Amino acid sequence: MKNKGVNRRDFFRLSAAAGAGAMIAPTAAASALSAPAVSRTSEFPTRTLGRTGMKLPILSMGVMRADNPNVVRAAYNSGITHFDTAHGYQNGRNEEMLGNFFKDKPRDSFTIATKGKFQYPLKDSFEKELTDLLDLSLKRLQMDHVEIFFTHALERVDEITNERVISLLKKFRADGKIKYIGFSTHALKPELIHAGIDAGIYDVILLSYNFKLNNLRETEEAIERGVKAGVGFIAMKTMTGAVEDAEGRKKINAQACLKWAWKNENIATIIPGFSNFDELDECLAAGNSPALSAGEKEYLAMLCDKEMLFCQRCGKCGEECAEHLPIPELMRAYMYAYGYKYANLSKETLQELNLPDANNLCRSCKGNCRVKCTSGFDVAAKIAAVTPILRVPDVLLT
Ligand code: SF4
Ligand code: SF4
Repeated sequence: MKNKGVNRRDFFRLSAAAGAGAMIAPTAAASALSAPAVSRTSEFPTRTLGRTGMKLPILSMGVMRADNPNVVRAAYNSGITHFDTAHGYQNGRNEEMLGNFFKDKPRDSFTIATKGKFQYPLKDSFEKELTDLLDLSLKRLQMDHVEIFFTHALERVDEITNERVISLLKKFRADGKIKYIGFSTHALKPELIHAGIDAGIYDVILLSYNFKLNNLRETEEAIERGVKAGVGFIAMKTMTGAVEDAEGRKKINAQACLKWAWKNENIATIIPGFSNFDELDECLAAGNSPALSAGEKEYLAMLCDKEMLFCQRCGKCGEECAEHLPIPELMRAYMYAYGYKYANLSKETLQELNLPDANNLCRSCKGNCRVKCTSGFDVAAKIAAVTPILRVPDVLLT
């Protein structure tokens, strides 16, 4: 089924709005990395992250998938200074790896963001649980503070504006455990950005941002309002699932995706989740030559007309599904498995959904799925293809 999202004509119209003036000239070229580098080889263009005043290279590292400290070393030695992890990534091993890597590095030579989830509605034990979570993250990281702490994967306005959440985040800051407060969201809802701006305490918002967004104009308007109010924006999911086809067979042109996102000067930095040297090389090449070429623009426009793996989170399936399944989250788990080829993260995402009978979620429909996905997904087939991961032991997953 044809994708009903941003089409080729929309793409050119919206991309033109970002303006050629946003192109940036790099200051130095990176050398190819086939092995860990020994000294910093690049100085990427930098942008200021809102009122934090942090000057970040436009290219940062989403550490999520990485489990090889030599890739972190190569990124650090190549001029990347900002590293994004989360309490839950790799059951804590991701933070531990960063802690071991950075323990002997000058503290002012890098910045760290981590994230913590909480259940909503809030439990009585919310304050204790999130405090314990942050304390454990700092222990794993072997640091007395992180630069940014994000409340993780928020979906609703009241998670952002809740007074107990806000006062606990302020306490973390007052206690010196975090420098800046943020939240992350995959929800693709501009109203969450507006809520974050109006709440007044969020210094940074980490959000999904890519050329496929159906609501790109509204998202960019919200980001612009945030920047004017002093909020800094960091982009993730810029590669829309890392592949350019619905079957997950062909890797997407990562450089084109990154360069497209950098055209928006309101995005301070991007955190692509590279996990090996080849992927790092791709990102470095883009960071050192960040202007989007005409050919790359044409390529992205072509993808706008294709079904891919990126769920637009339009919510339509929520009304249509007979079992009221959390289909956008299931589609995200599918994207992690078949796009990123990261089965572990897919399993973690599924586990967080606490599905009652994950082996047979679509049993009542007997093959007649009612969902007409706006992105063209056969959601029942994708659900059937991803949920078996829950039965695979962690030790067998990548
Ligand atoms: S899976 Fe659901 S939320 Fe995602 S694009 Fe399709 S209809 Fe929209
Ligand atoms: S088959 Fe379709 S409508 Fe039925 S439960 Fe599965 S996703 Fe929902």
